[in-house]
Amino acid sequence: MTRLVRTVGQAREILEPHRRAGASLGFVPTMGALHDGHLSLVRAAGQDNDVVVVSIFVNPLQFGPDEDFASYPRDLDADTAVLDRHGVDVVFSPASAGFAPTTVTVCVAGVTERLEGASRPGHFDGVATIVAKLLHTVGPDRAYFGEKDYQQLLVLRAMARDLAMPVEIVACPTVREPDGLAASSRNAGLSPDERAAAAALPAALRAVAGSWGGDAGYARDCLRRTLEAAPGVRLDYAEVCDPETLEPLEGVVGGPAQALIAAHVGATRLIDNIRLEP
Ligand code: AMP
Repeated sequence: MTRLVRTVGQAREILEPHRRAGASLGFVPTMGALHDGHLSLVRAAGQDNDVVVVSIFVNPLQFGPDEDFASYPRDLDADTAVLDRHGVDVVFSPASAGFAPTTVTVCVAGVTERLEGASRPGHFDGVATIVAKLLHTVGPDRAYFGEKDYQQLLVLRAMARDLAMPVEIVACPTVREPDGLAASSRNAGLSPDERAAAAALPAALRAVAGSWGGDAGYARDCLRRTLEAAPGVRLDYAEVCDPETLEPLEGVVGGPAQALIAAHVGATRLIDNIRLEP
């Protein structure tokens, strides 16, 4: 039976006996409105650990003033029921926005500068600050993050490494709908027409991965041309980057690359990415 806890104190109290007993602890931070992508992280955590903790917190710090914080989907009862069926031990859902720190910001330099960091100023400060507090509260051995949010994964890896946090950051592959669209809580906001239009995002990524010959500039231009011509899609960015630093790549490159895109479909902003390798 899943235990739902709403405060830092309760979370620590419930987890302490497990820790004392030497149980390994796997942690999956989420903003709720759970889908198959989240559940793949939960399954991975269950395979690797004795105890699984999932957090559900719509993090106010990671939304810009004109973004969808107010309308972000929330259904704690439904999410808790799903996690109960998946054998999750503890759901930590801080009861109020008061969980968000007011005097401390965790700011990761470098990898945060481009892409989502440029389009959403302050976004990664908000993510890193809350994830740091969640990790500090839960104290997991392993924390699970989706490659769907590829830049976020690199930001949190850098944070954990640089602050010597005693946690292993585990990356999990992107879970997709049958037509390739990455599962996302935001997909629920797409009308049927928008949902059809959104399939252009993974299609463009797949096309570029399929024709990858090592020319980063060519791949980026193909991606941009395809998405700029896609009906109902308003491209924010499309880049081909070094998979570790996210520096944009130019010309022919020897190793793998990562293609990353963000686009609006109607009022919904979607992101996706794919590895480019021979
Ligand atoms: P969110 O609730 O959107 O903050 O996501 C919580 C975690 O689930 C993050 O680590 C995301 O990267 C991960 N996630 C979201 N969508 C997917 C997906 N389609 N496949 C794999 N992981 C995902």
